Amino acid sequence: MAFGRYSPSYDFQNAAFWRTLLGLLCILTLVLTGVLTPPEDPVKCVSGNTNCTVTNSYGAFPDRSTCRVANVAYPTTEAELVSIVAAATKAGRKMRVTTRYSHSITKLACTDGTNGLLISTKFLNHTVQADARAMTLTVESGMTLRQLIAEAAMVGLALPYAPYCAVHDYVTEIRMVSPGSVNDGFAKDFADQAVTFGEKHEFADLLWLPSQGKVVYRRDDRVAVNT
Ligand SMILES: Cc1cc2nc3c(=O)[nH]c(=O)nc-3n(C[C@H](O)[C@H](O)[C@H](O)COP(=O)(O)OP(=O)(O)OC[C@H]3O[C@@H](n4cnc5c(N)ncnc54)[C@H](O)[C@@H]3O)c2cc1C
Repeated sequence: MAFGRYSPSYDFQNAAFWRTLLGLLCILTLVLTGVLTPPEDPVKCVSGNTNCTVTNSYGAFPDRSTCRVANVAYPTTEAELVSIVAAATKAGRKMRVTTRYSHSITKLACTDGTNGLLISTKFLNHTVQADARAMTLTVESGMTLRQLIAEAAMVGLALPYAPYCAVHDYVTEIRMVSPGSVNDGFAKDFADQAVTFGEKHEFADLLWLPSQGKVVYRRDDRVAVNT
């Protein structure tokens, strides 16, 4: 009878097995961390919501410069948004909207100087109304596409396949808040003709130039919209 016969090759294989398993676990952890960790917040502040920087989803603008602002506001309702815009307009401050993921490569979310105000849509991301019968969802502007798909599914709706990021094909109404005059209480909450314009063209872009008080309408009609 042989009890516990010493086998160096068995010990070696055993150690190799555990080393391989550990290695695989480390790789899996790294992959899952990389896959499941959302991108960093593009807005970072030195103290609370003041003395902040904003970047894009790449973590750097093309010119590598750092974009600084005096503070960031996080409205959670349309009413809060209106009062933030009104207060900043009254104070003559420059403001920009920033989003949770900030996908634009260029410095669109950057105000010049360091006294600017960022208005983040990070927490302005609720469903205002869901109407399964009319097949419409009314959502706040900070809602991500991922959230929108989940919110739609909750009332039995789904977004149709849309090439070229064409979610805008299904937009039927937009409400916009803009700086206003004293008579407007320094903020205007208005329905724009963007949707009407958008419905008439294959690609209908609005380029808003607040400093010039102008909007540039760009049409790109390669095929008829009812194609
Ligand atoms: C990898 C990659 C692929 C892309 N592919 C495409 C593509 O196929 N087709 C395409 O059209 N684009 C594409 N883009 C560009 C991208 O869709 C645009 O840059 C888009 O504007 C990013 O949207 P965002 O929500 O991240 O907004 P941000 O980049 O955060 O903001 C864009 C601009 O809109 C303003 N803004 C944002 N939200 C509001 C709001 N609620 N009210 C008023 N102003 C607001 C911001 O101040 C800023 O000026 C791509 C970008 C990346 C990084």
